[in-house]
Amino acid sequence: MPRDFLKGAADEYDVVVIGSGLAGMTSANILGRAGHRVLLLEQHYKLGGLATWFLRPGGHIFDVSLHGFPHGMIKSCRRYWNRDIADRIVQLKNIRFDNPQFSLTTTFNRDDFTRLLTTDFGLQLETVNAFFDTARGMNFYDDQTTTTRQLFDRFFPGRDDVVRLLMEPITYANGSTLEDPAITYGIVFSNFMSKGVFIYEGGTEDLVARMKKELESNGVDIRINCGVDRIHLENGHVAAVETRGRKIRCRAVVSNANLKTTILKMIGPESLDKDYVQRAEDVRLNNSSTQVYMALKEGEEIDESSGDLFFTSTAHEFRTDLLLSRDITSRTFSFYYPRTRPSKKERYAIVSSTNANWSDWADLSEEEYQASKQDLVETTIDALEKYIPGVRQKIDRAEAATPRTFNHYTRHEMGASFGTKFEGLSVSRELPQQVGGMYHAGSVGIIMSGWLGAINYGVIVSNEVDGRLTSESSHV
Ligand SMILES: Cc1cc2nc3c(=O)[nH]c(=O)nc-3n(C[C@H](O)[C@H](O)[C@H](O)COP(=O)(O)OP(=O)(O)OC[C@H]3O[C@@H](n4cnc5c(N)ncnc54)[C@H](O)[C@@H]3O)c2cc1C
Repeated sequence: MPRDFLKGAADEYDVVVIGSGLAGMTSANILGRAGHRVLLLEQHYKLGGLATWFLRPGGHIFDVSLHGFPHGMIKSCRRYWNRDIADRIVQLKNIRFDNPQFSLTTTFNRDDFTRLLTTDFGLQLETVNAFFDTARGMNFYDDQTTTTRQLFDRFFPGRDDVVRLLMEPITYANGSTLEDPAITYGIVFSNFMSKGVFIYEGGTEDLVARMKKELESNGVDIRINCGVDRIHLENGHVAAVETRGRKIRCRAVVSNANLKTTILKMIGPESLDKDYVQRAEDVRLNNSSTQVYMALKEGEEIDESSGDLFFTSTAHEFRTDLLLSRDITSRTFSFYYPRTRPSKKERYAIVSSTNANWSDWADLSEEEYQASKQDLVETTIDALEKYIPGVRQKIDRAEAATPRTFNHYTRHEMGASFGTKFEGLSVSRELPQQVGGMYHAGSVGIIMSGWLGAINYGVIVSNEVDGRLTSESSHV
């Protein structure tokens, strides 16, 4: 008999959270902690969404999106998860760049960037300070028409090398480009510059296991393999979600699934204002990624001087289209030393990530697809050989993920790695005005993507849901 993944689930909850990405889990945790009856439904067989990992024979564990996040994660995890999780967040001190315009190593914070920009790049200290202060002063309510390109032109006209240093890591961190609003750059850049780049010691599997434990201790009912097909409304208000053919009633829904899928498929345009539907249709998805995961044979090592995070490029200039092209010029290597997982077998791994377009992978035949993946693996190892000669012989396993892989595991349309472009944020925020009790929390608008952005958006939305449920209860 097939397993009943909803066995023992109640017929009604206060809130159903659809999706267990970092935003979904954080919302569920806060709402559970506040005493609401919460059901967390995840379509995949494990929790975490894009914050995920996978195991391979030989004791190898690969992280998919544990490459770096800002210091703010410590505070968010301490407040909205627990100290156990927050205390495992550690700094990556060795960030490297190598491209035809410059090669350097940095701790990736304001002091060190100021040193580099004034010495290696020969800029005036006043200009550098003015740029940092402007970026740090940016917030969501600021002018949204200035683009990142215009911001750079104002401070560093004609300095493509400076733009590259300042922009390349942020394009990697949230998919934003020079054409996006400057605030999508300024907010994220300043978050990193406050103290540098951090990761979670113990690996993604440890983080997600601790989050699951915390969710359970707060009474959240967690169900995996339970994709939601439909959100049912009554009189303009959420009434139930449908999963595995069963309708579960609820007073509020938080969807952590892709914004467009939530609005246009799970709710459906017929229940929404025409203008809102049009705006949801017009929301552009962010780009996707390819990755190559390489594990070293037992006993083989990588020298720590290789760095933690290494931005490499063979392109002579910084251009967004080159960053996304199938003809790869830019690769970001994450090096995982045994200290990433102190309690596990002593293993070294390298993950290469590159921004990518869905359209370059979507329509390949199975044969072409497999061949392209293999080509991606081979060319990536070739590129790595330049920095770690002989690495090919040390590799035990190497495999690739593509935009199709991310789409397959998370159902994100076009395999979007960072949700939507900027316009998605207001569409996401306005959802409760369209349907009573219906919320969206997940990567949108560039700013609210990445591990920290997703967690913080989960916090914002859960506070709104809590406010609504509490005021409804007090009126009964
Ligand atoms: C290759 C790559 C590298 C990255 N590197 C970094 C990095 O170094 N630092 C960083 O901060 N960020 C990084 N990110 C981005 C970061 O991982 C994401 O922004 C963040 O994890 C997204 O969280 P989320 O809450 O938006 O949900 P997601 O992780 O997108 O999860 C959504 C969840 O909803 C589930 N779902 C979807 N539809 C349904 C349905 N109908 N029913 C039930 N469940 C459903 C999905 O299965 C998934 O679990 C990276 C992303 C990628 C792809």
